[in-house]
Amino acid sequence: MATEHLDVLIVGAGLSGIGAACRIATQCPGTSFAVLEAREASGGTWDLFRYPGIRSDTDMFTLGYPFNPWPEQQAIADGPMIRSYVRETARKYGVDGTIRYRHRVLGASWSSEEARWTVDVERLDGGETFQLTCGFLFGCTGYYRYDAGYLPQFEGIERFGGTLVHPQQWPEDLDYAGKRVVVVGSGATAVTLVPAMAEQAAHVTMLQRSPSYVIAIPGHDAISELAHRLLPTRAAYALVRWKNVLLGALFYELSRRRPRLIKRVIRSGLERQLPPGFDIDKHFRPRYDPWDERVCIVRDGDLFRALREGKASVVTDRIETFTERGLKLASGQELEADVIVTATGLNLLMVGGMALSVDGEPVQMSETVGYKGMMFSGIPNMAITLGYTNASWTLKGDLCAQYVCRLLNHMRARGYGRVVPKAPGPAHPRHPFIDLRSGYVLRSIESLPKQGDRPPWRMYQNYARDIRMMRRGPLEDEAIEFSRAPAAGAGRNPISAAVPA
Ligand SMILES: Cc1cc2nc3c(=O)[nH]c(=O)nc-3n(C[C@H](O)[C@H](O)[C@H](O)COP(=O)(O)OP(=O)(O)OC[C@H]3O[C@@H](n4cnc5c(N)ncnc54)[C@H](O)[C@@H]3O)c2cc1C
Repeated sequence: MATEHLDVLIVGAGLSGIGAACRIATQCPGTSFAVLEAREASGGTWDLFRYPGIRSDTDMFTLGYPFNPWPEQQAIADGPMIRSYVRETARKYGVDGTIRYRHRVLGASWSSEEARWTVDVERLDGGETFQLTCGFLFGCTGYYRYDAGYLPQFEGIERFGGTLVHPQQWPEDLDYAGKRVVVVGSGATAVTLVPAMAEQAAHVTMLQRSPSYVIAIPGHDAISELAHRLLPTRAAYALVRWKNVLLGALFYELSRRRPRLIKRVIRSGLERQLPPGFDIDKHFRPRYDPWDERVCIVRDGDLFRALREGKASVVTDRIETFTERGLKLASGQELEADVIVTATGLNLLMVGGMALSVDGEPVQMSETVGYKGMMFSGIPNMAITLGYTNASWTLKGDLCAQYVCRLLNHMRARGYGRVVPKAPGPAHPRHPFIDLRSGYVLRSIESLPKQGDRPPWRMYQNYARDIRMMRRGPLEDEAIEFSRAPAAGAGRNPISAAVPA
């Protein structure tokens, strides 16, 4: 049987893969593409995570696609609403039929002679593997392992007689009504879970090793409501989107340049929200500056309300061991629990765990340097989507998709079959690819690609700057090499093989 060839293969049908498919369908007419998705459903993160209260922690006017206005009034939206929005977008743009479910991409090998990737795919319904080829590989695989979340080595964990749950594998039928719950963790998931579970549980304790920055933001955006009353939908959406981009950037920049000021602002918010006598220093005063790690948000201050009402409490301590009935802490305190939720994070995974090789040489991602935060030195015709760490993922994700479209159109127009970033010289400093000091990043830092200290090798986490570079900046520069399609391969340009001349 002839091997199927596609101009572009998108891997992953989450927010990014569906966004990429919409962009390619609308901006690269005549380009053949498919989306391969390992799971049986689309939506990625927003389908996988099912824990109580799952919601966005950035606003939907920037987490939504710029081309398809977020249709709801909620700025901070629940997981199922985001899932529906992503799927609805796929339907609206006619790309839902391009998704092939239960297709896991195991690896891909690039051949310079043929100027194409040969991709190994496993069918999860039948178990067989097969190959297809593509001119361009677009990894929209997110940034973490789907099969298991991160669980530290806790002593005595097997002794615990109650129910142990990880938020990444939430049991649909878990009944915690009237039960004593301990949520281990202090990140975005923990601060979401605690107030949501506190509505039914007897009591919820958030047990953290160290505090995070937590701020309350309104679930509804009053300016958005006004804008939607006065302006057509698209104009209102664009306005609110830009308002939020600018406010987010201001908060981030001030956090980096004037951390003491921002710490004071966060502190005064906490003093207003927390009950009198609450030990803010112990539980909500991190040892690092805001945005060294992601700042956690709580919708309408729901976590603080649960603390005020006594439905939840915070303990800052270290787990010494699990016991039959709960946890024994380093301070000697014992926490009894019927349910323990280990909101201890994710396992980072780049390019969906795909094994890549270029002309027979296996690729070590840790030896590559990111180009514009989305391509990698020495890897031809491949890009990934990696969102911002300090703002909504889609802001950068959609710029990546638009950039890939520009690249494909440019290559087609010039007859190029291969594009590859060239590694910056050894004199160029290398820095970690992800600039957060969060545990999940530090645990994997050695296996991640690097970034440089200047454009196009450096990531600035700055949307306005990236718009200039990715939507309007030149595609050809000294750091990237374009070359023509080889005469072999029936003389066709692999990027536009399906397009009639
Ligand atoms: C609990 C949680 C909450 C979050 N909240 C926010 C938020 O509020 N704001 C924000 O900006 N970001 C948030 N993020 C980050 C979030 O992941 C992004 O917002 C966004 O959903 C990423 O979309 P994606 O499509 O790039 O990746 P994902 O949503 O992870 O989707 C990747 C898809 O690729 C598939 N895939 C992976 N590898 C392969 C393979 N080898 N073969 C085939 N298919 C593969 C997966 O099955 C999955 O469907 C959150 C993350 C988590 C875990």
